[in-house]
Amino acid sequence: MSHVEPVTALADNYIWLGRADDGRQALAVDPGEAAPVQAWLEAQQASLAAILLTHHHGDHTGGAAELARRHQAPVYGPGRETIAAVDHPAQGGDAIELAGLGDLQVLDCPGHTAGHVAYLWEGHLFCGDTLFAGGCGRLFEGSAAQMHASLQRLAALLETTQVYCGHEYTLKNLEFAQRVEPDNELTAERLRRAQAARSQGHATVPTSLGEELATNPFLRVSEPAVRAAAEEYAGAQLDRPEDVFAALRRWKDGGG
Ligand code: ZN
Ligand code: FE
Repeated sequence: MSHVEPVTALADNYIWLGRADDGRQALAVDPGEAAPVQAWLEAQQASLAAILLTHHHGDHTGGAAELARRHQAPVYGPGRETIAAVDHPAQGGDAIELAGLGDLQVLDCPGHTAGHVAYLWEGHLFCGDTLFAGGCGRLFEGSAAQMHASLQRLAALLETTQVYCGHEYTLKNLEFAQRVEPDNELTAERLRRAQAARSQGHATVPTSLGEELATNPFLRVSEPAVRAAAEEYAGAQLDRPEDVFAALRRWKDGGG
C-alpha cells in the first residue's frame, strides 16, 4: 500500500509526494521548488528515493537539481525533452522499478509540451499539465489532435485510478464545464463540492478517473451534448472527436 500527499508551491502548483505505508522512502513529482519538499521530508522523517518530472516547464522542475544533489536521488523525466536535472530519461512504455517503492509505468502524453509524460504508480496517476481536474492543459507545443490522443490514453486506465495533476485549476475548469454541459447534474454537484473545499482552503485534487469521465468536457468529446455545444461555439459541424476537442480548447483559451 502507498499514499500520496500534496505540497503546495509557487502560485498554484502541487508537488506530489508518494510514500510506501511501511517504508521511509518517498518519491517527489514535479518539484517546482525544493524548500517545501525538504520541509515535508524532514517532518515525515522520510528519505527521497526518486524524483519524477512530467515536462520541462520551470514550475515543475525548478527544485529538482537541488533535491537530487542533496539526496543523491535519481531524476526521471521525459526523454524527448531537455531538462538539465534529468539523469534517467523515460518514455512511454517504460516500466521502472523503484527500490522500496515498487513499479512505475511511463505513459507518453504529448500536447501541453512535445515530450510530456505521465507516471502510473500503484493506481496513482501523476499527469502534470495534461489532464486537470475538470479540464486539461493548454497546447503550448503540441496539436489538438495530439492532446486529444494523449487524454484518450489516460482515459483508458481504470476508473478507480486516482488523478494527481500539477495545478489547482479546478474551479475555473468546472465553471467552464458547466457552460459546456449546463444539464450535467454531476458537473453541477462537483462544482458545489469544489467551491466548498476551496472556501476552506482544501485541495480539490486528487480526483478519480471515473469522476473525470463523468464531468470533464475534454474527455467527453463524443457525448452529443458536448459536441453540440462545441459546434455552436465553432459555428460549424464538427465530425471528428478531435475537432470537438480542438473547438473546446479554443473556447476555453478565449476566456471560456
Ligand atoms: Zn506546464
Ligand atoms: Fe505547470
